[in-house]
Amino acid sequence: NTFKTLGISDKIIRALNEMGFEEPTPIQEQAIPVLTAGRDLIGQAQTGTGKTAAFGIPLFEKIIHGPEAVQAVVLTPTRELAIQVAEELNRIGQFTEAHALPVYGGQDILRQIKSLKRRPQIIVATPGRLMDHMERRTIRLGDIRTVILDEADEMLNMGFIDDIEKILGATPDERQTILFSATMPRPIQNLARRFLKNPALIQI
Ligand code: AMP
Repeated sequence: NTFKTLGISDKIIRALNEMGFEEPTPIQEQAIPVLTAGRDLIGQAQTGTGKTAAFGIPLFEKIIHGPEAVQAVVLTPTRELAIQVAEELNRIGQFTEAHALPVYGGQDILRQIKSLKRRPQIIVATPGRLMDHMERRTIRLGDIRTVILDEADEMLNMGFIDDIEKILGATPDERQTILFSATMPRPIQNLARRFLKNPALIQI
């Protein structure tokens, strides 16, 4: 399989070539068709498998141009991961009109509010800081079409499960929900059961 046979558009393939991604990794091969079809997904995969691009490539394919609202949220356990994921997404999407903004605790909130005025289609956020922005109404989730929970088990360990539930509850029910986790402890299984619809399961 190649990115071309997976139906990826030329703009994104060009970016992947520049990034040195010649062929899809196993998780990308399996996840991309599922996500492109609009299905929910549970991916049990470690870092290093290419999971960021596995959700990032279909995400850019799905972004629609025109609406000013945030269309997708990626939740990560740490600011480092938020920055890293946003960077990789922005490389994947470099030839598209969409961009991702990292939003995390510890960074000046007024600076974030200023960056939000550039209308990112994708937000990569730590749960606590996203809750802050929701309360301030500087980020609204009413037009979200995709939610990605990255390293869900780590977010559980860091005590973010209540925030995650509130965030998911504030997004439209018709959203696509994608959950990545290296392990599947009971609370993550319960979260998946409550918030994902008929998910495909991929284990790498
Ligand atoms: P991740 O699991 O998303 O943290 O990705 C692990 C590393 O693999 C990152 O440095 C990616 O940039 C890289 N990577 C992801 N997909 C591919 C690919 N198809 N070909 C080569 N490198 C990749």
